[in-house]
Amino acid sequence: MKLHSYAQGEWYAPSTQGTLIRHAITGAEVAEISSEGLDFQGMLEYARKIGSKKLQQYTFHQRALMLKELGKYLMERKELFYDLSKATGATRTDSWIDIEGGIGTMLVFASKGRREMPNSNVYIDGPQEQISRNGTFTGIHVYTPITGVALQINAFNFPIWGMLEKLAPTFLAGVPTIVKPASQTAYLTELMVRHIIESKILPEGSLQLICGSTGDLFNHLTYQDAVSFTGSAWTGQKLKQHHAIIANSVRFYMEADSLNSSILGSDVEVGSPAFELYIKEVVREMTVKAGQKCTAIRRAIVPADKLDAVATALKARLAKITVGNPDVEGVRMGALAGLDQRNDVRERIAELAKTNEVVFGSATEVEVLGADAETGAFLAPMLLACRDPYATSAHDVEAFGPVSTLIPYQSDEEAIEIAALGKGSLVASVVTASPTVATRLVLGVAPHHGRVLVLDEKAAKESTGHGSPLAHLIHGGPGRAGGSEEMGGIRGVKHYMQRTALQGSPDMLTAITGTWLKGAERHIDTVHPFQKTFNELEIGDAVITAKRTITLQDIEAFAELSGDKFYAHMDEAAAKRNPFFENRVAHGYFLVSLAAGLFVEPNEGPVLANYGLDHLRFATPVYAGDTLQVQFTCKQKINRETEEYGEVRWDTTIVNQNGDVVANYDVLTLVAKHHGRNEGAQ
Ligand code: NDP
Repeated sequence: MKLHSYAQGEWYAPSTQGTLIRHAITGAEVAEISSEGLDFQGMLEYARKIGSKKLQQYTFHQRALMLKELGKYLMERKELFYDLSKATGATRTDSWIDIEGGIGTMLVFASKGRREMPNSNVYIDGPQEQISRNGTFTGIHVYTPITGVALQINAFNFPIWGMLEKLAPTFLAGVPTIVKPASQTAYLTELMVRHIIESKILPEGSLQLICGSTGDLFNHLTYQDAVSFTGSAWTGQKLKQHHAIIANSVRFYMEADSLNSSILGSDVEVGSPAFELYIKEVVREMTVKAGQKCTAIRRAIVPADKLDAVATALKARLAKITVGNPDVEGVRMGALAGLDQRNDVRERIAELAKTNEVVFGSATEVEVLGADAETGAFLAPMLLACRDPYATSAHDVEAFGPVSTLIPYQSDEEAIEIAALGKGSLVASVVTASPTVATRLVLGVAPHHGRVLVLDEKAAKESTGHGSPLAHLIHGGPGRAGGSEEMGGIRGVKHYMQRTALQGSPDMLTAITGTWLKGAERHIDTVHPFQKTFNELEIGDAVITAKRTITLQDIEAFAELSGDKFYAHMDEAAAKRNPFFENRVAHGYFLVSLAAGLFVEPNEGPVLANYGLDHLRFATPVYAGDTLQVQFTCKQKINRETEEYGEVRWDTTIVNQNGDVVANYDVLTLVAKHHGRNEGAQ
């Protein structure tokens, strides 16, 4: 099988012979790979001229819906990917992480894109900043998509997840992608790209694929492009120093080596449920994907007096791990991705063995079921241990396979210090039943890690585990781990957008952002905005309501109705002793209800429901005798692509007789797009 690249809308394979890629289990030839002859500059230009332009014709929601459709399309074809994934040495569980984990990640972004982003191409970051005294000059931050290309360079261990976890946020941002998978497992990425292209779901130019080297591509990168690299620190640092990256300030996100750790809390007794959890987690992380996970536990940090007990328990479990061809019944761990990888891991084990004793396993001998131990890239799980936590190479050497080192500690402070010797990692886990120990350890290790898992019996039932990055939460880590972040929900999308501070008049910024800002004009019409459909409503449509004077009877009636008889509403003397009030104060929730009574148009109409309030703040106390009025303004409209209604956010400001703001908040409503059944006889 000659692997093809997908460049400028066409499949391409060079006529010359490429590098052979072999099956991880059988050693048979699987594919041949080369990118010779590819026009890399042409690919970048095509992505910028066609891909970027086409993608930006759509909104965040429209692109999110495409991701959803694509996710479903790929899921229906998942068995094709599982079949080919066997060549990487993966078990069914390993492949599940890569294939369904990857598609699942894309679906999370599809869902978050519609729920947490506006249906436009501008994403507002944070609140409006009041800059001038009279409010005629204001400021706000916005994100807009960069106009270049997202180049992703991936490691061999997750040929599908690696691509999809990066493609989803870049696509959502509106930025076209060029994927360059690691050669060793590129055949699986190529298969998935073929299905993505065949689906015709993504706009033209959204996705291109390089099978083989990246040629002179880096020379042509500009500040509007972004590179996301996953792989070894050596390669990552080399690429990060490329003259075009430095000269053009190209965004460079790097996920590199990581010597992750798992700490057994000092409170955990040998044989207790938390102890068993720890043992299970370490063994799982050593053996899933044959330890070829950037997040695997490389350092097991345990109380010195329990090191021997932990070693005994780990050995007992590791002895049950059967290695071999995953097609054979009973095989728990497959092979490494290839013989090169095994050689690499063996070299690292030799380095580790200089400063650690081998507790379990061998780098050269492995019992294999249903395959040949030498032609397949098999390696037995290996556990090492040191007695002096400061004299081990485990803090510097990453063996990217089923290898972990036990390290003793004397105190919580020392456990933190040892974890930090990894010089920045993707993830640490803390297994403890004590909130005190957890707090101390977590706050100590957090500055050195991108993610921390706290594992106890309560979390264990549903825990996704030490090694699983989640689309909702950031993945990445400081220092050796690369110093970047990816995923983390909408945070991951922002990496492919430019944040810009906008300054100007509220009217101008309202027009640009599509969101009404304080100080902008309001349009007051004879038709109440509640009688306008989603399509008819315009940003700035408003009601300035009638006025209402509050009485003591109102406060008492509300207390009676709600049951809220808090002293500040009911007891004049007590209210006066309160530092914030001068007298009996009206209930905040009464003000919110009263405001609705003032701004609502009661007749049946396009407004279907009120689904909540945002940012509610009570700014000035209200006493009997105060007169209130509401300014109610259409602030933002979010079109729901697949529904007959949209979301409308209303700025709601309650003011008193002195013009002081009493309360401010957003009312959230669902409004029909057309006049119809909810408007009775009208
Ligand atoms: P490499 O650094 O060798 O390769 C990573 C990627 O970079 C591959 O796609 C590779 O392509 C590409 N590459 C290599 N040289 C260049 C170059 N000069 N220009 C452009 N691209 C280049 O790492 P491995 O694939 O061997 O991955 C193993 C390592 O990755 C492990 O040691 C592990 O530490 C790390 N890793 C980190 C992860 C994380 O999230 N932090 C996840 C997984 C792995 P090609 O294969 O064609 O050479």
